[in-house]
Amino acid sequence: MDQPSSRAARQESLREHNLALVAREVLSASRPLSRAEVAARTGLNRATVSRLVAELVAGRLVIEDAPVVAGAGRPATPLRPASCTVGGLGLEVSLDFLGARVLDLAGQVVAEEVVAGDHRASAAAAVLGDLGRLAQQVAGRAAAQGTQVAGSALALPGLVAHSRLLVAPNLGWREVDPAAHLHELPGARLRLDNEARLAALAELAVAESRSFLYVSGGVGIGAAVVQDGAFATGVHNFAGELGHVCVDPAGPRCRCGATGCLETFAGTAAILRAADLPEASDLSQVRSAVEQGNEKAERAVARAASALGIALAALVNLVDVSDVVLGNTLAELIEPMRPMVEAELSTRVLAAQWAPVSLRVAATAAHPALTGAARAALAPVIADPAGWLAGPGQGGFGKLSQ
Ligand SMILES: [Zn+2]
Repeated sequence: MDQPSSRAARQESLREHNLALVAREVLSASRPLSRAEVAARTGLNRATVSRLVAELVAGRLVIEDAPVVAGAGRPATPLRPASCTVGGLGLEVSLDFLGARVLDLAGQVVAEEVVAGDHRASAAAAVLGDLGRLAQQVAGRAAAQGTQVAGSALALPGLVAHSRLLVAPNLGWREVDPAAHLHELPGARLRLDNEARLAALAELAVAESRSFLYVSGGVGIGAAVVQDGAFATGVHNFAGELGHVCVDPAGPRCRCGATGCLETFAGTAAILRAADLPEASDLSQVRSAVEQGNEKAERAVARAASALGIALAALVNLVDVSDVVLGNTLAELIEPMRPMVEAELSTRVLAAQWAPVSLRVAATAAHPALTGAARAALAPVIADPAGWLAGPGQGGFGKLSQ
């Protein structure tokens, strides 16, 4: 026979499991759900759902809208994610800016700050020190509006593994432990990930498709492979380095040390150089030059588009996706590049005749990696609401903070 203590432990773990099921349905639904809908989606009975919803409401994770009368029977009370109660803090170090954004459970921006800067070949400690101060400021503004930051996540343009940045060639950073320089961040421990992957996470929240290849094109070019809502991260979390796929071994030297990487043809700096535009220009100026018939700009765009098409075709042949999403500044050039990228894809993708590849601009707003990072920071609350509610002072991840 069971010992009473082990039975109680089992019941507690069942409650935690069911609470997570209910939280996931309500917090990730595209519209408010009634208790009956939550019961149908989770397979739990109505009484259990009502009891668990009451816990989520009391814990300020879920709120009830005004009851809706529809036909006979009791009016349904729609449930939706609470606004301005619990938030995730998204942080980003980009080559051109530092950013901090707090997103609440409803997906709304509570507070944010983006500060322009030039971080090429920068000192990690100084830049991360600045980011830490920005994070404090933004978290403070969110707190003033009643939003408690549950945790934070940092987007970086490089290889990330085991809470360390191994290398970010364009920043000139190697072997950096960001948490050591970001003191006193609010909430649970800092999570790190690659910028393109976090931008793709933001795209996944708004895109119709659940399977796509996300390309973040700036000075560097990163990518994320999303299949049925899951990320292909690779054995070491290094997957997606599209910018260092070789498109011409005889091509220019890349910052990574190799030659002919995609970035040396389709990175912002490479396009501006080929178009004979000043280093401080942006790609909208290249687009304008193309529209005005500037031959150098046309050649620069054709060269970038052909390289991008060759690299994308290699990736599509390997992973079989039919939706390529172009994000970041390279999206400015999607229309002038489209014919050449599509020509490379239709020539080089073996299955193109049966599964044509479509190319579109990301649906997300500015700085999507900040939004993705904030979502990643909130993910532990959604995955383990019981842990969050049991935290010190209620709402603090007492069980997860180690
Ligand atoms: Zn390279």
